[in-house]
Amino acid sequence: MLFPQPESPEIHEERHPVDGACSHCGAASLATYRAADYQGWLRVVKCQDCLTTADRTRILAPAQGG
Ligand SMILES: [Zn+2]
Repeated sequence: MLFPQPESPEIHEERHPVDGACSHCGAASLATYRAADYQGWLRVVKCQDCLTTADRTRILAPAQGG
């Protein structure tokens, strides 16, 4: 049985497309999703082509089970 290669080592969250173009590579491939780092949770906007972070906002931890 084959599994697809993960696109990034980050926690997988549902990604929502964002209007706009990447400031680094110019691709209209921005998406927003939650990610976690050593300080807690963030909502990030990242280019899905080159993985440049366009924006990041510190958020509260997601509710358990929600
Ligand atoms: Zn890019």
